Amino acid sequence: MSAPTLDLLDLDSSLGEEERQIRAVVRRLVDDRVRPYVADWYERGEVPARELAREFGRLGLLGMHLTGYGCAGSSAVAYGLACLELEAGDSGVRSLVSVQGSLAMYAIWRYGSEEQKQRWLPPMATGEAIGCFGLTEPDHGSDPASMATRARRDGTDWVLTGGKTWITNAPVADVAVIWARAEEGVRGFAVPLDTAGVTTREIRRKMSLRASVTGEIVLDDVRLPADALLPEAAGLRAPLSCLTEARFGIVWGALGAARECLETTLRYATTRTQFGRPLAGFQLTQAKLADMAVEWQKGYLLALHLGRLADAGGLRPEQVSVGKLNNVREALAIARQCRTILGANGVSGEYPVMRHGDNLESVLTYEGTSEIHQLVIGQKLTGVSAFT
Ligand SMILES: Cc1cc2nc3c(=O)[nH]c(=O)nc-3n(C[C@H](O)[C@H](O)[C@H](O)COP(=O)(O)OP(=O)(O)OC[C@H]3O[C@@H](n4cnc5c(N)ncnc54)[C@H](O)[C@@H]3O)c2cc1C
Repeated sequence: MSAPTLDLLDLDSSLGEEERQIRAVVRRLVDDRVRPYVADWYERGEVPARELAREFGRLGLLGMHLTGYGCAGSSAVAYGLACLELEAGDSGVRSLVSVQGSLAMYAIWRYGSEEQKQRWLPPMATGEAIGCFGLTEPDHGSDPASMATRARRDGTDWVLTGGKTWITNAPVADVAVIWARAEEGVRGFAVPLDTAGVTTREIRRKMSLRASVTGEIVLDDVRLPADALLPEAAGLRAPLSCLTEARFGIVWGALGAARECLETTLRYATTRTQFGRPLAGFQLTQAKLADMAVEWQKGYLLALHLGRLADAGGLRPEQVSVGKLNNVREALAIARQCRTILGANGVSGEYPVMRHGDNLESVLTYEGTSEIHQLVIGQKLTGVSAFT
């Protein structure tokens, strides 16, 4: 039985034909290649990342909002809708696409040399090459300005020393965009992961985002030629601009996880009977459902507004913070509330609700925690920085 629409406000009517088509294609892909398998991947803590990357590449989803070098050049709203559909499958699957397109590819596309773009972007767009983005370190997460990874010049070479952790895709990646402190400030490097001195290790026992590969990267006197430097990236503004790109996808993606929870719960509540009537017939259940549907619509409205701003070329980082803070927080609240309506089945992997809720715990933390986004918004409102 199909679930009733959540689009109470007819927001879909503002979508263009191409946006609807892209959404339909991604939804079908998720139906065919993710939904039937993801509960099993999640339970085993394994995901066929390379296979998925090639399939996503074939459909033009990797770096789809970028132009040239084999990228599709689609609108920000179309990219957002793709993220929504992917994350309705699983946040880990959406993370694979976000990290590839909005972090690794975007960094090279925006800050790389022409040679770096020619070398890396076409195979990354097809999914033949996988990228990752190394900013977080064991001792420096929310405060990347304090990073300990160092880059020093040696003749024309660069030598990188340090370590990154919690890096999505690292154990399966071919190239890492690594951020390191040089004498002149933070610089970015495109580092092939088979370079001598680089080791990666998978982080196991995650209780969240289990259908995503996460790892550490150790850089032990890694010698790189001069052309590994991303020439246009100078200072922390460069990695932060990449995060803004990826956070935009999360604004949309979180709505996908929440939609899957809500649709599952609506189906469940209309078919599960207690005290002689469907759960959906109790006023307390309807109050929960109504409040969740209202929050979902508000989040979608917000995502659409930010998407239209991005397409008009005027999206600012603090506006993305508003979207990330609100939509992830509300998606997590929706997942938790949906879980209560499913009763004991809510904790079962046979239903997607708890998996989405557990995933959203990571989504709440990465790409800037809620507290960091509150500080960004607070600074904008007051003119006072409260970060330190
Ligand atoms: C599954 C997963 C995948 C990830 N993938 C990547 C990736 O691909 N690349 C990458 O570089 N990183 C990645 N990360 C790392 C992620 O970006 C960091 O975890 C995040 O930035 C928070 O850093 P931290 O975990 O060190 O927490 P901390 O910075 O130690 O923060 C801990 C708590 O303190 C709060 N806090 C910190 N500073 C302040 C302050 N000034 N005021 C108030 N509260 C504060 C935080 O909000 C948080 O609640 C990933 C993380 C996860 C879980």
